[in-house]
Amino acid sequence: MAILEIVKYPDPLLYEASEEITEITDEIRDLVNDMVETMYATEGVGVAAVQVGVLKRLFVIDPTFAGGTKEDPAFVFINPVIIDGEGEMKGEEGCLSLPGVFITIKRFAKTTVSARNLDWEEFEMTGEGILSRAFQHEMEHLDGQLIIDGLGGLRKKIALRKLRS
Ligand SMILES: [Zn+2]
Repeated sequence: MAILEIVKYPDPLLYEASEEITEITDEIRDLVNDMVETMYATEGVGVAAVQVGVLKRLFVIDPTFAGGTKEDPAFVFINPVIIDGEGEMKGEEGCLSLPGVFITIKRFAKTTVSARNLDWEEFEMTGEGILSRAFQHEMEHLDGQLIIDGLGGLRKKIALRKLRS
């Protein structure tokens, strides 16, 4: 296992759409292990594959944000799709690829994701609060979007002033 370097704004890779995974290979398993280690090292709620430089539709989530403990395995979402979203919440959101930048974003309060796990089984998970926020945030990474994209010119400029290199 290895801690990988996080791809940071304005790297153009972050604006690429990731591709579906067609099968679980040793390469994918190794990638997941490295992403989990990187997530814990950087104290992120979740990490998308594109953030470690791999354009695959995959993200991992820290289980402690879903009622689990650090001893529980991290949640792995392969080829995830948001199948339901309800309610509304507004809060500050950060991103490992935009260190130091926090933006107030409106999100679904409750989100259901359908995905596959490392055994290629389909599953669904519903998240509320921070988990719902993480689902929506990581899905946007897979589609090549960042939290600053919705901001107008001036607000974007001000938000990026906080960016740490
Ligand atoms: Zn992010």
